[in-house]
Amino acid sequence: MPDAPTPIRTLDDLQVDGRRVFVRVDFNVPLAGDGDARTITDDTRIRAALPTVRRLLDEGAALVLAAHLGRPKGVDPALSLAPIADRLAELLGEKVDVAPEVVGDEASRLSASLRPGVADQRILMLENVRYEAGETKNDDDLARAYAALGDGIFVNDAFGAAHRAHASTEGVARHVEHAAAGLLLQREVETLEGILANPGRPLVAIVGGAKVTDKIGVIDAFLERADTVLIGGAMCFPFFKAQGHDVGSSLCEADGVEPARRALADAESKGCRLLLPVDLTLGREFSADTERRDLDGVDVEDGWMGLDVGPRTAAAYRDEILAAGSVFWNGPMGAFELEPFAPGTRAVAEAVADTDATTVVGGGDSAAALQQFGLGDRVTHLSTGGGASLELIEGKALPGVEALRRG
Ligand code: ADP
Ligand code: MG
Repeated sequence: MPDAPTPIRTLDDLQVDGRRVFVRVDFNVPLAGDGDARTITDDTRIRAALPTVRRLLDEGAALVLAAHLGRPKGVDPALSLAPIADRLAELLGEKVDVAPEVVGDEASRLSASLRPGVADQRILMLENVRYEAGETKNDDDLARAYAALGDGIFVNDAFGAAHRAHASTEGVARHVEHAAAGLLLQREVETLEGILANPGRPLVAIVGGAKVTDKIGVIDAFLERADTVLIGGAMCFPFFKAQGHDVGSSLCEADGVEPARRALADAESKGCRLLLPVDLTLGREFSADTERRDLDGVDVEDGWMGLDVGPRTAAAYRDEILAAGSVFWNGPMGAFELEPFAPGTRAVAEAVADTDATTVVGGGDSAAALQQFGLGDRVTHLSTGGGASLELIEGKALPGVEALRRG
């Protein structure tokens, strides 16, 4: 079993009273509409940063907030952070100034006029960091310019961007005296590392979704550590193909068959139980009003595709989850966006909500499924970082996290 990694520096390690802190947050929220009519359709990520923002303000700091929104190529007013700063001000009940640029004379002037500890004069939101070409290139001059907007302190609370070595997630840490994790990033890292290093037993990992090749690193990580791995979603078909079953017209990633065959062999040699569906719900095509039927078994005839796990599988997976000491879930059990093919994913989501185990859910669509079923607040930890949480589970070093480890 690998040793637990060196801990990251946290807010407890900082003295921020009277100082300007450069804070990277994840405000990459979904927007609808155009121009001045743009509205935020889900402000979860802004709310998730509030504990860190409030704590730093309570401790007497002023904040220079940096974030990205979408993937602009240069300055793009459609991806300005102004509406996000407005929402933040609303949620905090305090004025948030918006710089008209990311770095430059005006950003420097506004940051110099911040007054730590003085309400309505202590928060500056910079423009979308991806307006600067150097951001994603981790340009050192840009990183130095970010650091100069604060008083030698960098706080990173943007877990969703921590798997990228960008100037505002990694580079800036090299130019400050003190770099530390915000409360959200800290919780993400500690929870995800905890389920790898010291999980309650049995540890059950549920891995679903579209492609084996997207998730093979996660499957491998759990074949090393978990007692049981439950496979669902379209990615069960490469496993079935490797076992010699017919998959009919099911979505079956060709490149996934070899990794699936290898994972089956590894499970055997490592003594990890790897469970596959025993029944399926089929449709003629990927559509909510397609002809639908249950198949007791997993050999799919031509002209049909497996779009969900069947009821016997759902019940068996539920039992495993209820008996677990800890559970990690990533990836839906079927095409849950289509109501007739949602029951398998719903059954797993409900079991994850009902179990007494510690439960951690990572991944974009799995998190969306959990929210769709109204169960988002019934898990121990719902990760805000899709790609970042999977990379951490795979054992990859996240540049934005590594920058915060104690030397
Ligand atoms: P996550 O974002 O949670 O990591 P993925 O992106 O890997 O999950 O997979 C989610 C997608 O997989 C969904 O769009 C879902 O419709 C699709 N999917 C799952 N099972 C099937 C299936 N049996 N056939 C077709 N698509 C499926
Ligand atoms: Mg996805």
